[in-house]
Amino acid sequence: MATAVSPDVRTKYEAVIGLEVHVQLLTVTKAFCGCSAKFGAPPNTNVCPVCLGLPGALPVLNRKAVEYAVRAAMALNCTMRETSIFARKNYFYPDLPKGYQISQYDRPVAEHGYIDVAGVNGATRRIGITRLHLEEDAGKSMHDGLPDSAHYTYVDLNRSGVPLVEIVSEPDMRSPDEAYEYLTRLKEIILYTGVSDCNMEEGSLRCDANVSVRPRGEQKFGTKAEVKNVNSFRFIREALEYEIERQIETVESGEKVIQETRLYNPSEGKTYSMRSKEEAHDYRYFPEPDLMPLVVDAKWQAQIRSRLAELPEARRQRMITEYGITAYDAGVLTATRSLADQFEEAARSAKNPKRVANLLQSEIMGRLKMRGLAIEQSPISMKGIAMSADLVESGAISGKMLKDLYDFAFERNQDFPAVYEQKKPQQITDTTTIEKMIDEVIAASPKQVEQYRAGKKTVAGFFVGQVMKASKGQANPALVNEILSRKLDA
Ligand code: ADP
Ligand code: ZN
Ligand code: MG
Repeated sequence: MATAVSPDVRTKYEAVIGLEVHVQLLTVTKAFCGCSAKFGAPPNTNVCPVCLGLPGALPVLNRKAVEYAVRAAMALNCTMRETSIFARKNYFYPDLPKGYQISQYDRPVAEHGYIDVAGVNGATRRIGITRLHLEEDAGKSMHDGLPDSAHYTYVDLNRSGVPLVEIVSEPDMRSPDEAYEYLTRLKEIILYTGVSDCNMEEGSLRCDANVSVRPRGEQKFGTKAEVKNVNSFRFIREALEYEIERQIETVESGEKVIQETRLYNPSEGKTYSMRSKEEAHDYRYFPEPDLMPLVVDAKWQAQIRSRLAELPEARRQRMITEYGITAYDAGVLTATRSLADQFEEAARSAKNPKRVANLLQSEIMGRLKMRGLAIEQSPISMKGIAMSADLVESGAISGKMLKDLYDFAFERNQDFPAVYEQKKPQQITDTTTIEKMIDEVIAASPKQVEQYRAGKKTVAGFFVGQVMKASKGQANPALVNEILSRKLDA
């Protein structure tokens, strides 16, 4: 960081941050025409008169885009507006052939939502969402990497008309870490709803960060700067850190922060002025005459709500109660909806879900990571994990044996049941041998025998464990149980 504000001076100020996030909706077709919305097609192949802005072409609203926007808004705890209005946002840019973007202005589809983020010391902070509205994307200007880039800028209009939602936060965040946390939670929630892939490299999640500083205790906000087009959450945090120091320095030196748009250069860790308020756009919004007001009535809202999957925070809480796992484990296992689905599939069919949680995290995820595999590509299925967890649970195999079997499964790319069939330890079913082992365990544990005979029947588990250990997991569990109770109850 180039600037150097001393910690003493730093603590005299408080940062105020508000984020504007654009999320591309995963519809098959664009917002107002039938063109494919898929990323990665050859330039200017997914276009038609509507998204090229040819005169006379009329937009037709994609109902799926509305459904996705409403679903996202519901997941973000917003209040729906039954009748919202599309508006034209007018500006000139080469990648905007119509000369305006269809968006929503004073009557967006949803408002007044929030996201709870983790604060310091385990507290939660509620960050308000001002509004969520539907709009179409513009095309893409390509300045580098093409044959004549030295002389020309190229325009690809495949993205023109792709549906987006813009999610505007209240100026409720107070630190770059909090902004980072907000973005992480927002992305997680949107991914759970399935309405976007939130892929920042492909531009399906974009964030503009607004930030100002004020003396601690001051109620009035300071003048904000907006940092645009930062392409990772980490860079947004860095850009905010730099920007806060820059603004504090400006104020400390008796100057005024000017309202402007700035760009972040990640390799230098600095922001640069792009345009000031004076050059700012006047969008001259007006209602879109080619589209009817958008009505999402109670019936449609209920339909959309019924398709809303359980959200990450609710799922974590339920998993903690239902499976007796820790908050930490629940956090890891809900990192993606798919992982949580997989875990629950195994946990539901296993005797001890906690063991499944441990096995997944300590044994399976590590092996997957080493091989660069996703959970869906695991050679060991969720059924296999449940089966192996039960085998360890009953003492039929030891933890060490389980690790060997997992290694073997990954090497051979075979599921657990098959591997177990080939490699399963020779079981000891000879009663004399088992009896001898039990006698030894009983003789070595007089205290536990006393407890058991005094009525504490749960101690039986201790004896089973000891015998399984002595037999290296090879004693037949049914026989062990039978002989043990005969001897202990005698
Ligand atoms: P503009 O009119 O410049 O678009 P808005 O009031 O619409 O500003 O707010 C845009 C974003 O900036 C919102 O996310 C809002 O929370 C945030 N914001 C507004 N004022 C401030 C401020 N003084 N400091 C930091 N963020 C702010
Ligand atoms: Zn089109
Ligand atoms: Mg605004």
